[in-house]
Amino acid sequence: MNSDPSRLLMPRSQEGLARLIDREGLDDGRIAAAFRAIDRRVFVPSRFHRVAYEDRPVGIPADQTTSQPSLIARMIDAARVPAEGRVLEIGTGYGYQTALLARLCREVYSVERHRELAERAEANLLAAGIDNATVKVGDGWAGWPEHAPYDAIVVSAAASEVPGALREQLAEGGRLVIPVAEVGSDNVYLCEKTGGETKIVRLLTPARFVPLVRGAPE
Ligand code: SAH
Repeated sequence: MNSDPSRLLMPRSQEGLARLIDREGLDDGRIAAAFRAIDRRVFVPSRFHRVAYEDRPVGIPADQTTSQPSLIARMIDAARVPAEGRVLEIGTGYGYQTALLARLCREVYSVERHRELAERAEANLLAAGIDNATVKVGDGWAGWPEHAPYDAIVVSAAASEVPGALREQLAEGGRLVIPVAEVGSDNVYLCEKTGGETKIVRLLTPARFVPLVRGAPE
């Protein structure tokens, strides 16, 4: 049994989860609307359906996790996804954040290292009625140069440094949100490209992520 007392206050419905996101005080009001529109239950394994609306990470196959919803919300908010824009996501997982991003912009491209997860994410996105997100199996360290530049890039796994390919593939004025593994914790940074250079603007929050692994899956 899980004895964590915060469980008692956890949302039990999609609307409850959306209300929790309402209370995050985000700049972009479209984000809570995206949480209302996308059912997280579709994007977690069936054995976790019971806890799908709780604000916590949930395990998915290949020893990965789908991120905590409020953290996803804050990262997407910081990325300032433009309605007419093109977004790159690194680390698709089961596709929940992909679906949320797809509600907010015109096109989403998402790179996932594990084929098993990428295929499942595609099926989940289809089930959720999302038709403007494309998933590929690949190494996120290389980004997805064919569709660059991107107005926003959101990375869902902790890198050892900000990958050069992602810095390059960002559009001028675009924003990159990325967790970096540092001593003691992972830190989520907001970067922005100005004058042709992608620089760190500020630290958003410490958080825990799975590592952004280098190279193709074994
Ligand atoms: N965005 C997802 C997060 C999934 S966890 C969600 O919110 O549900 C992070 C994902 O990053 C995992 O699925 C993992 O397989 C993937 N990943 C790790 N290293 C990667 C790499 N180098 N390239 C692409 N994906 C990677």
